[in-house]
Amino acid sequence: MLKPTIGLEIHSELKTKTKMFCGCLNDPDEKHPNTNICPICMAHPGTLPVANQTAIESVVRVGLALNCEIAQFSKFDRKNYFYPDLPKGYQISQYDLPFCKRGYLKIGENKINITRVHLEEDTARLQHDPKGNAALVDFNRAGVPLMELVTEPDIVSGKQAREFAQELQLILRYLGVSDADMEKGQMRVEVNISLAKGGERGTKVEIKNLNSLRSVEKSVDYEIRRQSELIGEGKKINQETRGWDESKQETISQRSKEEAQDYRYFPEPDLPPVTFTQEQIEKLKSTIPELPQQKRTRFSKEYNLPENDITVLVSDKELSGYFEDVVSELLGWFKDENKKVSEEERLKAFKLTANYLISDLQSLLSAGGFLMKDLKITAENFAEFIKLIFEGKITSRVAKDILAEMFNSGADPSVLIEKGGLSQVSDETELEKIIKDVILQNPKPAEDYKKGKEESLQFLVGQVMKATKGKANPEKTASILKNII
Ligand code: ZN
Ligand code: MN
Repeated sequence: MLKPTIGLEIHSELKTKTKMFCGCLNDPDEKHPNTNICPICMAHPGTLPVANQTAIESVVRVGLALNCEIAQFSKFDRKNYFYPDLPKGYQISQYDLPFCKRGYLKIGENKINITRVHLEEDTARLQHDPKGNAALVDFNRAGVPLMELVTEPDIVSGKQAREFAQELQLILRYLGVSDADMEKGQMRVEVNISLAKGGERGTKVEIKNLNSLRSVEKSVDYEIRRQSELIGEGKKINQETRGWDESKQETISQRSKEEAQDYRYFPEPDLPPVTFTQEQIEKLKSTIPELPQQKRTRFSKEYNLPENDITVLVSDKELSGYFEDVVSELLGWFKDENKKVSEEERLKAFKLTANYLISDLQSLLSAGGFLMKDLKITAENFAEFIKLIFEGKITSRVAKDILAEMFNSGADPSVLIEKGGLSQVSDETELEKIIKDVILQNPKPAEDYKKGKEESLQFLVGQVMKATKGKANPEKTASILKNII
C-alpha cells in the first residue's frame, strides 16, 4: 500500500499600510505599474532598510493563533539568488531564527504540525510580452511584507491539503493580517508530495503556482494517481517541480531539481536583531480574536444550528458577527415583551435567522457583487423582519419582497408593510370571501377534494395565494377551505 506524504509551503502578502522595509504604499489594487516605488525597494546603492513593525507583529499574531512558539530573539537573513524580479540580488528573509516555530492547526480530528512561520519580502511582478520578445517588470509589489508558513509532511490527501489552506486563509482574515485572496496572488500555495510504501522514503515532487483552493486539492489528487501508476509500473519518480494545468486538469513538469539550491544565507547586516519580551508577546496574544474553530464550537452549543449553516456563517467573519447582532436583538425582544418563549421556539428563531442570512440575503448580495460590509440593513431592522415571519404576520412570499426592498433602501420592514399594504390578509371575513370566489371558479378540484383527493386542496390553496398575491396565510387558508367544502 502506497502512502502519500504531503507538506505545504504557503506564502501570504500582509495587509499593511506600507511595504516591509520602506515607506512606499502597500497597495495591491494599484493599477499603474511602478508607482509605489522608492530607492529602497528599487535597491539603489547606499539605501538602508527599516523593518515594518506592524508586519512583524502580524506574523507573531499568526504564530500565536497557530499555537507556535514565539522567538524572543530573532533576526533577518539574506537569501541570495538572481532573478529579474529581485532588484537587490537577494531577498531579505529569515533562515535559522524564524519568528514562529513548532505550531499546529487542527483539521477535524487531525493535527497538522507547523514547522515555522517567518517573514520576508515579496518580489516584483514580471509581465511577459505575449509574443515572447520581452518581459516587463512592475516594482509595486517589490518589498511587500510576505509571510511564509511551512508545514510538517503530515497531510495525507488532496482534500486535507485544501482544508488546511482554507482554514489558514480564514484565520488570516479573522486576524485581519491578510485578505489572502488566492486569485489576486495574495495567498500562494506550494505542495511537496511523495509516495512510498510505509516506512520508506519516496521522491519529493513540488507543485508550484496553485492559485485556487480547488487546484490545491485537484493537483494533489492528480499527483497521487500519477505517482502510483509510475511506481506500479516499476518506474522511477523524477525529483522535479511541476505546475498545474487548469485546462487539462493535470500537473506538468517544469524543471528537474537534482539538488537543493544553495542560497548562501547570511545575517542581514543592515537590520538589527528583533527581540520580544514575554509581556510584549502576552500583549499580542490578547489581540487574537475568537478564531473560526472556537466560533464553530460555540455556535453549535449556543444556537444548535446544523453543521452546514455554521460552516457558511463562520466562513465570513462579518456575516457571523451580523448573525449574532440580529440574535441579540431577538433575545432582547423576547425579554422585553416578557414573552413566554420556549427553548424550542428560541432555537426556531435562530434557525430562521440563519436561513434568511444564508440563502436569501446571500443571493441578494452576490447578485449585486456586494459584500457584507456594503449591507444597508441594520441588525435591528433585520431582527424586526425575522419577528414578522416568526409571528406569522407575513408569509415567506411577502418576506422575499420585503427583504429585497430592505436590501435596496435599508428601510424599516414595519414601515414598508404599512406603506405598501404588504402585510398578510389576516382579516378572516376578507379571506373567506376570496376563498369562496376561488371555489366558485374551480368547482372540479373542490368536488375532487370532497371525494378524498388531497392534492386538490393544495391546488386550491395555490389559487388563493395567487388571488391574494401571496398575502394569505397558507395554513389558515387550508383550514377555511376545508370548513367551506
Ligand atoms: Zn519603497
Ligand atoms: Mn519564501
